[in-house]
Amino acid sequence: METAFEDQLTRFVFERAAVRGAVVSLDTAYRDIVACHPYPRGLQRLMGETLAAVCLLANALKFDGSLVLQFHGAATLRLLVVECSSNLELRATAQWQGEVADDARLADLAGEDRTSRMVLTLDPKDGGPLYQGVVALQGESVAASFEHYLAKSEQIDSRLWLRASDGRARGVLLQRMPASTEADAATWRRASAAMDRAPSVFDAADAHSALTALFSADDVRAFRPRHPRFACSCSRARVAAALRLLGSAEVESILAERGTVGVDCEFCNRRYEFSAAEAREIFSGPAAAVVH
Ligand SMILES: [Zn+2]
Repeated sequence: METAFEDQLTRFVFERAAVRGAVVSLDTAYRDIVACHPYPRGLQRLMGETLAAVCLLANALKFDGSLVLQFHGAATLRLLVVECSSNLELRATAQWQGEVADDARLADLAGEDRTSRMVLTLDPKDGGPLYQGVVALQGESVAASFEHYLAKSEQIDSRLWLRASDGRARGVLLQRMPASTEADAATWRRASAAMDRAPSVFDAADAHSALTALFSADDVRAFRPRHPRFACSCSRARVAAALRLLGSAEVESILAERGTVGVDCEFCNRRYEFSAAEAREIFSGPAAAVVH
């Protein structure tokens, strides 16, 4: 049995109630992602909480593809993007301006403006239809924002607890299935209260001991853990497709100014360089297929 908690997601069910959940710890994955750009500490923390939340939700994806979360802010935080594939491959990026306090809350950074919003996109890899849900950004914390979104978009009661600190991001998701009984409701209240009272899971050595300590009065079955990791899906072919969209005239003007075209991936910060000949080659072939 695996006991280490590092970079693990463990789904669990209450055997005698229609309550389920999952617990995740992001360790190397989190550190690798925040190391891609010089994010302020306060933003690293919010990114870690969001990574944990998106990973917990992506774990339930029923298709091959990804879940993309965007927080659009109107103040210090302009944009935070976190993407998690159905294989639990994570990446993230953010745009901000100005100072970010170490203990900044999402609501502080996003601002009061009515244009602040949360967008969740389900993106099937096989070319199936995109699903996009948009809600106004509400709730002071990342967890409260997700709970608000889930209350609006799903028929399932959901609670989230998130914490990111010291190079580690952890999260717990609890969900109560629809049409549950009074006994289920009692379990739901007890489990939620246990999390509110003793968030010891954030310091637990492994998922099993965390669940045992939290829900000692209940019969909880944990499933085999999955392993989230950092991976960026950028490639030279995708950058070429983006340059094609930019258009030949724009690319020629960059060439006139700099002699080559260089593009940095906004997620992983990898640099793609195209010589003048390579950049012009992009526009010489047949129209590129849509690169997903
Ligand atoms: Zn990349």
